Amino acid sequence: MNKTNKNDRRHFLKMTAAGIAGATLLPHVSEAKSKKSNKVIYRTLGRTGVKLPIVSMGAMKDGTMVKAGLAKGVKHFDTAHVYQKGKNETMLGEALQGQDLSQLFTVTKVVPDDMDRKTGLIGEGCTAENFLKMFDISLERLQVKSVDLLYVHAVSSKQAVLHPEIIKAVKMAKEQGKCKFLGVSTHKNEPEVIRAAIEAGIYDVVLTAYNFKQDHREEIDKAIAEGAAKGIGFVAMKVMAGGFLDKDQTKPVNTKAALKWALKNEHICTSIPSFTTIDQLEESWDVMAKMKMSKQEEKDLEFARDYAGLYCNACSQCDGQCQKNLPIPEIMRSYMYTYGYREMGKAKELLANMGVVNDPCSDCSHCTVTCVKNFAVGEKVQSVSRLMDVPDDFIV
Ligand code: SF4
Ligand code: SF4
Repeated sequence: MNKTNKNDRRHFLKMTAAGIAGATLLPHVSEAKSKKSNKVIYRTLGRTGVKLPIVSMGAMKDGTMVKAGLAKGVKHFDTAHVYQKGKNETMLGEALQGQDLSQLFTVTKVVPDDMDRKTGLIGEGCTAENFLKMFDISLERLQVKSVDLLYVHAVSSKQAVLHPEIIKAVKMAKEQGKCKFLGVSTHKNEPEVIRAAIEAGIYDVVLTAYNFKQDHREEIDKAIAEGAAKGIGFVAMKVMAGGFLDKDQTKPVNTKAALKWALKNEHICTSIPSFTTIDQLEESWDVMAKMKMSKQEEKDLEFARDYAGLYCNACSQCDGQCQKNLPIPEIMRSYMYTYGYREMGKAKELLANMGVVNDPCSDCSHCTVTCVKNFAVGEKVQSVSRLMDVPDDFIV
């Protein structure tokens, strides 16, 4: 393997610091008042009957953006037990203090323990008790007794969705009044997960990766339509497909067009793009004023679709090709979080969960992984794995 050159190293270090600086540059919440259209389109989240604006918000790093979202009219803020090692739920809980939660749609996500994120299979160490303990911690951090929706987080196999301990746990959480609705979230093997959720009969919502760059989008559409026919509500994530097509961020994805593309599917109730600036929030919110895609937007998406970009389909076609059996799709997702969304914390969390260390390719003579998108996999692994040696304090 070629060693990472000094320029790249400098760029990487500068970028992690820029993440921190970016947070301090956010305009004050009061500046969030829009001078633009405030047309809001609501859709119903399947059989939950809950009506939500079609634009919601992904996990925010700080309360400023949450408050900006509230000022705009956002009703649903995504979070999860594992984000920022729990700090994300704590931040959201604090930001929502004083709000009338009956007017919002509160959620969190809990990852089953003993789940192999690579195979998607849950092992024998998974217990309902542990799942419920983690959920209780989440409720505490959010400063609530219950949430509207509890997701089983990041599942990618039928076995995980139907695992008896998980089914037992989520049913108990609901019986105990700690959540009203149940769901699963997925960014791999989405059709299989959606169909398993239908089969389970207890899940009301699926949060799924859904964007114009997915090669298997027709298959996902089919599964979504089947789920919708059974009353499942759908929330879309990864809608921006990385936000940029290149790591230096010189080729942005047309985010309005990407959002319009996802929301064209009427079975998608709402989407959860992550925003780091008020401008991004404004831009996405404004999509509701004009949902029809312009010719230019169509062209932009066509261009972005043909460009390898930063989005890994998690198509599994490179499975078994890595000489060290590294979790390539997950590392590629971390790469996208880092260079596309500048979400280094999320990227490091995922790498840590997958047991990836800094420079895992160091003793590999050449990369044997062939990606359908022609990603230079070895280089990307080497580049993003450096996050594992960056202290958490330097990462937002
Ligand atoms: S260089 Fe390629 S094959 Fe070798 S360990 Fe890294 S990703 Fe795997
Ligand atoms: S790295 Fe390429 S081949 Fe492997 S899962 Fe991602 S898109 Fe598919």
